[in-house]
Formats: sequence, C-alpha cells, structure tokens
Amino acid sequence: MRSSSTGLMAGRTPRSDSSGRIIRAILRWYAHQGRSLPWRTTRSAYRILVAEIMLHQTQVTRVLRTYPEFVKRFPTLRALAAASRTDVVIAWRGLGYNRRAVHLHETARTLSLSCGGRIPTDEFRLRSLPGIGRYTAAALLVSVHHRDLPVVDVNVRRVLSRIFWRLQTTIDTRPEREIWFLAASLVPSGRGYDWMQALMDLGATICTARAPHCPDCPVRGMCRSAGVLRPSNRPARREPSLEGVPDRLYRGRVVDLLRARAGHAWVSIDLVGKSILGEFRREQKSWLMRLIHGLERDGLVLVRRTGAPSRRTLIRLA
Ligand code: SF4
Repeated sequence: MRSSSTGLMAGRTPRSDSSGRIIRAILRWYAHQGRSLPWRTTRSAYRILVAEIMLHQTQVTRVLRTYPEFVKRFPTLRALAAASRTDVVIAWRGLGYNRRAVHLHETARTLSLSCGGRIPTDEFRLRSLPGIGRYTAAALLVSVHHRDLPVVDVNVRRVLSRIFWRLQTTIDTRPEREIWFLAASLVPSGRGYDWMQALMDLGATICTARAPHCPDCPVRGMCRSAGVLRPSNRPARREPSLEGVPDRLYRGRVVDLLRARAGHAWVSIDLVGKSILGEFRREQKSWLMRLIHGLERDGLVLVRRTGAPSRRTLIRLA
C-alpha cells in the first residue's frame, strides 16, 4: 500500500456515525459557497460532456477560458462530429492534454453514427467510448441524468482520504479502490449531483492539494487530518523529460506551434525542433522523432517524408 496514512486498516470502510454530519455540513457549505459554472446551468448532455472531458486533468479557470468559445463553435454533438479533427484540436487551445480533443471528436462521431447523437445512459456503453473511463462515465451519469452514483477523481480522493483517515503529509492518499468503495457508501439519496459538485468544490477551493485551508473548512471539527498535514519532502514522480522539462510539455509546444500555423501547413521537424527548444542539436533529433511519433500514434499529427534531394520530415495537425 503506497499511502503512509495511519488509522483504519485497508479494505475496511471508515464510514462512521459522523458520516451523516459530514455530508450535511459539506452540502450546507456548497449551498452558500458552491461555484457558479456555465456547465452547471445547462441540461444539455452534449455541453456537459464537453465540460467533463475538458475538466478531467485541467483546472476550472483554464476550462472557463476555452469552453464558451468551443461550444459556440461546435454547438451540437453533430456539429462537432462533422468538423475536421484539425479544427477541433485548434479549438482545444489553452487546455493541454490535446489527446482529449481527439477522443472527444471520435466520441462525437461514434455517437452520431450509432446512437442518433444521444449520450448513452449505460455506464459500460459510456466506458467503451474513446477516452471515457470510470470517472468520466460516472460524472456524466450524475451530471446529465442526476443518478446517485459515486464519482472519484484526484480531488475527491484527496478530500475523502483526509477526512476519513488521519494522514501525515499533503501528498498522502488512500488507495483508489478503497476510496471508490467509501464514496459509494456516502452518496446521499436524491442528492448525488449536489454531493459530487460539493466535493469537487471543496477540493478545488478549501482542501487543496498543497495547502489545505482547514480553518475555513466546513468539516474541520470532524476531519481526521484537520490541521496536521505537513508538506512532503518525497521527490516528485519521475516522467520522461529532456533536460528537466517533461516531454508532455514539449508535446504541447509542438501542437501549439502547428495550431499557430493554422493547422493545415506542413512544418519541417528542424523548424519544430528550433521552435520548441530554442537551439536544436543533431543529437536531439532521435528524441524529437520519438516525441512526434507519439503524437502521430495519438492521432494528433500527420508525418510525411519528402524524397531526394532534400529528404525532409514534415508534420502538420491530423
Ligand atoms: S479540515 Fe483540512 S484536511 Fe480536512 S477536509 Fe477540511 S481542508 Fe481538508
């Protein structure tokens, strides 16, 4: 078990007599402090789908900058399905993790062809769609159909771990499976939607990853980790990188460069290398080609090689 928490044994739910009080306190807080967000005021399944895919791995403030323009540009699932992938990736500007744009576009095309453009109401059908996993499927069923289901993302996992176990540092959490199990026991009947949004808001504004604001928290008197969490000095998880910069940031820079060129123009990889690295050295070429082939596999770029005499490798948005 990775977590260094103390307290209850793994595999046992900590749901206690105080659970009801915790739920009521968080729902009361949400009624006054919950955020007003555009995807919370619509009943359009399509708009909620777009928001949920954007919100997965991206902060609300960034989604708020891109979402309105995106749904204006592609106002329906059919409009999105009919668009070119290049235009969808261009409209994804500012969100990062561009592969989600490809998945959303593929999902729109699949649903347009097979479901008459409707969002499925079945979890397993949802999870068969590109880029939709357990979290997104549950979030959609709760947001669109107001089902009373547990929804666990990194924020919810962090908040529930802290409330129900006495953790030691800000990066500790309980295992994901355990939190799904606990979350399923907590969903208040008929309030699943509010409960999901309340936990998300609490995690985003009060029980934040690095610096929880315990004195302002509605459950400070019932939370097992209140006031005791200290920063961790464990090294961050290693990820593929070049000279200390993660490859995922370079992937984003490549896509940004192609977007800036209207998406349709072919660009030589030498120019790509110079643009994203400043100085592009010969020995960095194999690293760059690996990066580009990753983008090609993810359906984000097309790669073309010219013949003699120049023999150049060119890329553009797919
Ligand atoms: S009391 Fe502190 S640690 Fe507990 S849920 Fe609230 S903000 Fe998080």
